[in-house]
Amino acid sequence: MSTTSVARNEELLARAEALMPGGVSSPVRAYRAVGGHPPFIVAGEGCRVRDADGRTFVDLVCSWGPLIAGHAHPAVVAAIERQARLGTSYGAPTPLEVELAAEVVAAVPSLEMVRFVSSGTEAAMSALRLARAATGRAAILKFAGCYHGHADALLSKAGSGLATLGLPGSAGVTPETAADTITVAYNDASAVRDVAERVPLAAIVVEPFAGNMGCVPPQPGFLEELRRIADATGALLVFDEVITGFRLARGGAQSIVGVRPDITTLGKVIGGGLPVGAYGASRALMSQVAPLGPMYQAGTLSGNPLAMAAGLATLRLLDDGAYARLEAAGAWLEAGLNDAIRSSGARARVQRAGSLLTLFFTDRVVRDEDDAMTSDRERFAAFHRAMLRRGVMLPPSQFECWFLSLAHDDPALEEIVTAARASLKEVTP
Ligand SMILES: *Cc1c(COP(=O)(O)O)cnc(C)c1O
Repeated sequence: MSTTSVARNEELLARAEALMPGGVSSPVRAYRAVGGHPPFIVAGEGCRVRDADGRTFVDLVCSWGPLIAGHAHPAVVAAIERQARLGTSYGAPTPLEVELAAEVVAAVPSLEMVRFVSSGTEAAMSALRLARAATGRAAILKFAGCYHGHADALLSKAGSGLATLGLPGSAGVTPETAADTITVAYNDASAVRDVAERVPLAAIVVEPFAGNMGCVPPQPGFLEELRRIADATGALLVFDEVITGFRLARGGAQSIVGVRPDITTLGKVIGGGLPVGAYGASRALMSQVAPLGPMYQAGTLSGNPLAMAAGLATLRLLDDGAYARLEAAGAWLEAGLNDAIRSSGARARVQRAGSLLTLFFTDRVVRDEDDAMTSDRERFAAFHRAMLRRGVMLPPSQFECWFLSLAHDDPALEEIVTAARASLKEVTP
């Protein structure tokens, strides 16, 4: 029995690689950037996951952001169970989506109406279509290193997944589609102004705090300047808050910086670990969306009752105390990691926003993708393997945020810092 169970992970990987590209359902999960084999996860509880070989890890992936309450939170599980007994999907309106829409509109300052979809990709793709419908313009501007899902128009210089694999964009995107997307450096408002004055833009799309080239906060004034440029040139400002929404604050990044986008996309946290996305705007803009207006967008499983139930249960855990705890956990971890970096002599720095954090193997302040690319990715890979051996599962790429949850308690945080102390020593010459 023990021999077969010891081989479970390897055996699963072999089967998975024969059946699915890279053995995965999303590319970065394949561990190509860090080497070694991805553990196949069989269970999660709180801030820990267990793999097919029975090893447990403190989890800093947290499903790449959705699990702000941790794995299998009792309230979320109960909500899903209750709804599952009543049916999993109807293709008809439900009270749950009304409740979740009310919570989202009440929390996020710029929203008057929302439409639920099934992923962040769909939300971003639909937001773009809405911006084009409302402005009658084609071109969009995005920032190198920002990821907005895998819709064709948004795949150029699209951050973590592509950067991890060293791809500038994706094969299969037509030159015509790519030509409508203009990319400039994050935090470079003057480059945005130059483009917006030359090209009629439908939208300026931005992660208000970038999370897909590692954690890169906006420079003071950057988002305010984007708002001014959009107003002056007739472009719509789109905040992709798929990561930041309900994570940095209930009202998302826009409630922190006090800048109101025209369109907001959400996902991850609002689905509580089930597939979800949403886009929203003012009543006037959302009146362009079918059946009220001419912009078509639909979905068989949109507003799925299980996802709505999990999302509602999650949002109800997110009171002021919860955000205070996430901030305290983030600050404590940042301080611990900085101390570990100092004592190891590693050339590394930590960047953090609330419960999002990245340890970059560079001594340069990371303000954009070029800065992020100065990181020593070989060293990150060695660090990742060293942490995994010590029972801490980091996202398998230098260009991702570590995601903290409400379930990351003091012992778990201490385990992370202890593992980082030893791992940094190990990988620093
Ligand atoms: C994850 C992410 C998306 C895509 O969401 P999916 O649910 O993976 O399609 C879009 N934008 C940002 C900022 C994200 O982090």
